[in-house]
Order: sequence, then structure tokens, then C-alpha cells
Amino acid sequence: FQSKLPTATVSIFSRMSLLAQQHQAINLSQGFPDFDIDPKLTNLVTQYMQKGFNQYAPMPGTIELRKAIAAKYEHYYRITVDPTEEITVTAGGTEGLYSTIAALIHPGDEVIVFEPAYDSYSPSVQSFGGKVIPIKLVAPDFSIDWDIVRSKITHRTKLIIVNNPNNPTGRLLTKEDLNALEKIVEETGIFVLSDEVYEHIVFDNKHHISILASNILRQRGFVVASFGKVLHATGWKMGYVISTPQLTAEFRKIHQFNVFSVNTPMQYAIADYLSEIEYYQSLSPLFQQKRDYVIDKLSTTAFKPLPCEGTYFLLVDYSSIATEDELPFAEKLTIDHKVATIPISAFYTDGHNQNLLRICFAKKEETLKMALKNLQKL
Ligand code: PMP
Ligand code: GLN
Repeated sequence: FQSKLPTATVSIFSRMSLLAQQHQAINLSQGFPDFDIDPKLTNLVTQYMQKGFNQYAPMPGTIELRKAIAAKYEHYYRITVDPTEEITVTAGGTEGLYSTIAALIHPGDEVIVFEPAYDSYSPSVQSFGGKVIPIKLVAPDFSIDWDIVRSKITHRTKLIIVNNPNNPTGRLLTKEDLNALEKIVEETGIFVLSDEVYEHIVFDNKHHISILASNILRQRGFVVASFGKVLHATGWKMGYVISTPQLTAEFRKIHQFNVFSVNTPMQYAIADYLSEIEYYQSLSPLFQQKRDYVIDKLSTTAFKPLPCEGTYFLLVDYSSIATEDELPFAEKLTIDHKVATIPISAFYTDGHNQNLLRICFAKKEETLKMALKNLQKL
């Protein structure tokens, strides 16, 4: 058998979650909330199932949900998106990423990926014969040198992938970053895949800037979003992709043969639930309070938090405790101290080590309290 992904292994999220389970550790590794979703939402799903909404949804998604998505862009960003031709409902952000890459990438195409990078980007590119060109960003700022980006561009560069707000760094792209990206796209016609799944989790009165706000980026762009993050329901695997009508038509050709369509009752339920458009505003304060709680409690430990502007992940530096590499340290922390985290080295192709761990703070206060108590002992 000739493997398409010879170096791929079980994901670091599965690996650390399993280790947490085996050792009864508090799981701050894989990114998912440990609190319940709104019962109003579960009731809506049940109601739609009982009303008989159980057969295939339209291939691009129900028009009700696509209209609810368009309404959000209008309300929060004053960006007009056409629900019929520019939005496709997907099986989570992951399918959105994969189908976009499938639609774009031919063998030999080069794709620029900033590292630390979310784990699905590179294998998705490689599975279509694309070549990943990693650009390494490092702590504490993870800032992008756009001259380096330019130096990596060749006639084969097809796509640049950005993730804003960024998992795992918790950083946002600045207006200057987006301007630099826009300039490159304007000059080269390279496509942009913007993973914006954490767009509603942004702190300290900062604002998320979607690539859709730039006409130039929008013409060459695909935006990926996820209801898993918005509804605290990562297991639902619901998301969407926005692009121009022409690119959406190409995207849908792939989507239609990948999953055809997505879960019907949930689409109706989510559209109904999100008609309460102010709902999105509850997310940043909810997670900012959790971030601040963790940062406050970390001050009594030897772990040093890095700045976190968005997402529900916080990076912590353990260099005053140990010098060993991130993976063995994270394993030891799970087994001996009962707190599971994610080593950041897993997000770099070369396993770059910076003595950093990612902790997920999308947890109940009691969970965070117990975990921090354990961390105090190091
Ligand atoms: N992109 C990023 C950066 C993520 O953290 C996640 C999280 N799981 C995804 C995409 C995938 O989203 P989904 O769970 O909706 O497939
Ligand atoms: N996005 C989640 C995280 O970053 C993981 C999703 C997964 O396990 N594939 O932790």
C-alpha cells in the first residue's frame, strides 16, 4: 500500500485526550468545552426531528441557516454575503478546510502555511499532491515577517492559509498583516484560505477582522467557520464556507461528492437559535472571564502565561520548571500531576521546542480550579 500520508500519525488531540483518560487527568488538552450547551438548543433539535425534518437537506445547506449566517455578517461586520451563492454549510470547519483544499490544489501546487499550524492543514494539502511551504513563527510574538513570506512565493504558489484568531497561539492578525496579505494577493492572484473559527472569541475590546472586509482578499478568499465553537457543541460538526459565487460553485462540486449535504434537523435548529442575533456577543465575555481566571491563578504557579488575544487557548511557558522537551513534559504533567495539555511542538513540522504548552480554558470554573491547584505543586 502506498500511503498518501506516510508520516501522519494519530492526532496530538486524540493522543493527549486518551492519555488524560487513562490516567484520570483533568483534560485541558483537546479544545472542547466541558459545560452543557443551552437546553433551548437541544429542545429545538428535538422539535425539528419530531416535526419530520429528517431527510436530506439541500446540498449547499438549508436556506434558513444560510440566511442566518448572512444576517450575522451584516449585523456584526456590515458585510453583505449572498446566502444563495456565497455560503455553503459544511460538516464542521474541518470539512470546510478539506473541501476548499480539494477544490484548489493540484499535484505540485505550493501552499504557504504558518507554523505553529492547526493540525489538519498540511495533511489536507498533501493528500492532493500539494507541497506545504511552512513559515515558522516563534514565541513570544509569533509575528509574521512579510518579506519572508514574499521570499517563499514561486510561480507554483497557489494558496496561503491563515488562522485568525490563531489556534494555538491565541494571537490576532493585525490590520498591517492583512494589508500586507492583500498586497501579495493583489500582485500575485494567490488564493487565501482564512480559518476564522474563533472569530467570536476575541478579548480586551479587540475586534476580529475577516478577510471578507477586503474586496481584494474576498475575490480570492475562502472563509471557514464552525458552529462547534459558537454553540459550545464541538461534537455537532457543523460549519460553513464563504467565498465568491464563482469559487463557491467550484467548492460545491467537491462538497457535493464529499458529504453531499449536512445534518438537517440541526441546520433548522441552529438557524432558529441564531435568530437571536445578540447571542454571539455573549461569547467573548464568557471566555475572557475564564482566561482572566486562569491567568490570575497562574501567578501563584511557576508557569508563565503568554499574551492571549482570542480563542479559548492559552500558551504557558514552563522553562523555570524543567528543560525537557514539550511532549515528554506534557506526558509527565498528565501522568504525575493529572493535568493534560498540548505540546506546541506538535504544530511545527520540525518539532520546534520552546518549552510551551497549550491549555484549553473552555472549562467550568471548578475544572480550572482543580487543574490550577495541581499546577501549583510544580
Ligand atoms: N480550525 C481550527 C483552528 C480549529 O481549532 C478547529 C477546531 N476544532 C477547526 C478548524 C475544526 O472545526 P470543526 O470542529 O468545526 O471541524
Ligand atoms: N480544534 C481542537 C483543538 O485544537 C481539536 C479538534 C480535533 O481533535 N480534531 O484542540
